[in-house]
Amino acid sequence: MKQLLSSWPTPLEPAPRLAERIGLRPDDLWIKRDDLTGLGGGGNKVRKLEHTVAAALDDGATTLITTGAAQSNHARLTAAAARRVGLDAVLVLRGDHAAVSSGNVSLDRLLGARLVWAGDEPLDVVAARVADELTAAGQRPGLIPFGGTSVVGARGYVDCALELREQAPDLVHVVVAVGSGGTMAGLVAELGAHTVLGVDTGAMTDPGARITELVEQLRPGSGELRLRTDQVGPGYGVLTAAARTALEDAARTEGLVLDPVYTAKALAGLTAAVAEGAIRPGERTVLVHTGGLPGLFGHAIAAELASL
Ligand SMILES: *Cc1c(COP(=O)(O)O)cnc(C)c1O
Repeated sequence: MKQLLSSWPTPLEPAPRLAERIGLRPDDLWIKRDDLTGLGGGGNKVRKLEHTVAAALDDGATTLITTGAAQSNHARLTAAAARRVGLDAVLVLRGDHAAVSSGNVSLDRLLGARLVWAGDEPLDVVAARVADELTAAGQRPGLIPFGGTSVVGARGYVDCALELREQAPDLVHVVVAVGSGGTMAGLVAELGAHTVLGVDTGAMTDPGARITELVEQLRPGSGELRLRTDQVGPGYGVLTAAARTALEDAARTEGLVLDPVYTAKALAGLTAAVAEGAIRPGERTVLVHTGGLPGLFGHAIAAELASL
């Protein structure tokens, strides 16, 4: 396991009151604390960056470039990873500067990243242009893919799956939010498709096809994906009633703070799976906490909660 950016393994913690709240037995539910991945405010992207940044360093990169939504946790963590290994970072973000003033963007600035607002242009077109400019200026750009998701990045979640095998040998289900898909792909490659329940958050179209393609390259024949698409609601980043309930359930039963964009939807998907009998009492279940707390402070819910 690489230790370039953080220390491993992350803790696996019991959540007995949350388990009962959603219809499981107290012993059934455990939280994999991948929000506690040290670097730059933490989150799942650090595991992928362990691999993609190592590859960029091998390639002699001087500046990392990546792309994302305005409140991208991945972009923030790429900026932190760059600093951790002595490089610069350029973040190509969707939309324009005027629309955001907090959350991850505040941390991007604190980390001293250069932000390039892509407006309505495709992110990878703008990123390629930035890479050309850097090359012309004598630098060597290292392009980190959207969400950190590639075969190389997904290996970070093969690492996480190996930790889980040791920490919870009797696990039956692992539940995880799906954005760009690399996290689920790495888990499926190591644990098999039957073990992993992905909950789509609407970050991209057809995540199932992308995850299948990644898994085929990591470990062919891993089986048919379990992917729920019913928690997206009106779209990426929009807080549904079920996700709001999940956010409150985790906070009020365990003092566990989830985020509105990813992990609250993952818990909402887990809750729905229990209600339907797809996950049953007595089955050891791990919910992966993939981080995202800075995004909560960049989301409309932060001001709404403060005003209650
Ligand atoms: C990016 C992200 C995810 C989704 O991970 P992918 O590998 O992109 O599917 C889940 N939770 C949080 C907090 C994230 O930032």
